[in-house]
Amino acid sequence: MAGARQPVPTPATGAAGASRTTATTEATDAGPVPAAGLPVVETFHSLQGEGLHAGRSAFFIRLGGCTVGCSWCDTKHSWPATTHPQRSLATLLAETQAAAAAGAAFVVITGGEPLHHDLNDLCRTLQPAGLPLHLETSGVDLLSGGFAWISLSPKRHRPPKAALLAACQELKVVVHEAADLAFAEAMAAAAVAAGNRPALLLQPGWDCKAGEQLAIAYVRGQPQWRLSLQSHKQLGLR
Ligand code: SF4
Repeated sequence: MAGARQPVPTPATGAAGASRTTATTEATDAGPVPAAGLPVVETFHSLQGEGLHAGRSAFFIRLGGCTVGCSWCDTKHSWPATTHPQRSLATLLAETQAAAAAGAAFVVITGGEPLHHDLNDLCRTLQPAGLPLHLETSGVDLLSGGFAWISLSPKRHRPPKAALLAACQELKVVVHEAADLAFAEAMAAAAVAAGNRPALLLQPGWDCKAGEQLAIAYVRGQPQWRLSLQSHKQLGLR
C-alpha cells in the first residue's frame, strides 16, 4: 500500500527483509505469542511519507500478498503471497520493540494488502511494544485486528467494504484522472452514510502530472479535501 522505502535494519532483524522461520511460542506481557507467522516482504524504520501522519517516525511491517491488481502499484513485488518468507509474530514483536527504543512513534502495517491476512494475532502480539498500530489498506477484505489509525485507500476497480469506510480515520484516494475525483466524492459520501467522517485526502499518482493538476485544483476549491504527497519518494526515502 505504501511506496517503496529505505530499509533501516533494527537490532532484532540484522538485515531488513531477512528470512525468518522461527515458530516457537514465547511469553510476553500480553501472554503467550502464537507460533504462527506471516509472510513479510520487509520491515524498516523510516518516516511515514504520506497521509495525515506524514513526517513522523514510524516502523513499517510490509506483508506479502495482494490480489487487488492496481496498474500503477509501486510495490508489485509484494503481490505473491507465498514467495515471501514467513516471519514469526515473536520476531515481529522484537523488531517493533527495537524500533520503539530507537524512536518510532507508531507501527504501520502495510503491504501488499495486509487485510488478506487475519491480523488479530499480530495486533495482539505487538501490544507489549506500546506503539499505536496503523493500518494501510484498500479495504477489499473484512477488517481484522485493532488499530489506532486506519488509512483507507479505496480503488475504483475493487471498491472497499462498508465496514472499512465506517472504521477508517483517513480516506486517501489516488488521483490519475478526473474519474478518480468523482470516485473520491462517492467514497466520502459512502463513509458519511456509514456514520463516519474521516479526513479526506487526494494523493496524485506518482509522476502523474495530470493527477497532480487535478488534485491541486480540486483541493483549492474543496476545502474539506487535503493534498497528500508521497514525500518519502521526493526525499529519496523508501
Ligand atoms: S492495493 Fe496496494 S499493494 Fe495492492 S495492487 Fe493496489 S497499490 Fe499495489
